[in-house]
Amino acid sequence: MSYVFDPSPVPTLGVEGEAARFPVHRVYCVGRNYAEHAREMGGDPNREPPFFFMKPADALIQAGADFPYPAQTKDVHHEIEFVAALHSGGDNIDQAHALDHVFGYGVGLDMTRRDLQAEAKKMGRPWDTAKGFDLSAPCSDLKRASTIGHPDSGRIWLTVNGETRQEGDLSDLIWSLPEMIAYLSTLFTLRAGDLIFTGTPAGVAAVQRGDVLEGGVAGVGTVRTRVV
Ligand code: MN
Repeated sequence: MSYVFDPSPVPTLGVEGEAARFPVHRVYCVGRNYAEHAREMGGDPNREPPFFFMKPADALIQAGADFPYPAQTKDVHHEIEFVAALHSGGDNIDQAHALDHVFGYGVGLDMTRRDLQAEAKKMGRPWDTAKGFDLSAPCSDLKRASTIGHPDSGRIWLTVNGETRQEGDLSDLIWSLPEMIAYLSTLFTLRAGDLIFTGTPAGVAAVQRGDVLEGGVAGVGTVRTRVV
């Protein structure tokens, strides 16, 4: 195979304790998957099921690297999220076997231009400029499920400059990870390298240049980034 110019590099994430990296295919994100966050965004978790959107794979920021405050916004919000990474996929995966497709887990931030998202919602337009901007997805290195298991409970939290802003528990997820994988695989063919950002607990708020964001999921790890 030859190309008319060099293709873009494959986006990757680190794997804790290993030299080999995890090659990323797609980044799926789940919206309104914690009831308290659905309410703070003006939704009703009893009537509206969670839904999906995507970020480009090359929007990932490696563990610990700075988050550049993006252009065209005055209201960038943090959303701490539990991230699942797949090493296999398929269509119409059943819930009972969904976790067999999970390579491991990490902790990510679904950074959001909230003002552009509000405008998009009002106008009935897509969310890409609000959610899928360059470098909108800081993410920790991954840990293998063979090492840490498949967490379905445990604290998820985010601090800004040392002060707690977001807090929840994986057991509060409206859709469990097997439910998310099963449903997502009815919409898209899932593949090795896919990431799923599983939604954020309540407490989302604006960040400012200079803020240090640090968040984590019990038993999985932490992610840290500075807004520059
Ligand atoms: Mn999110």
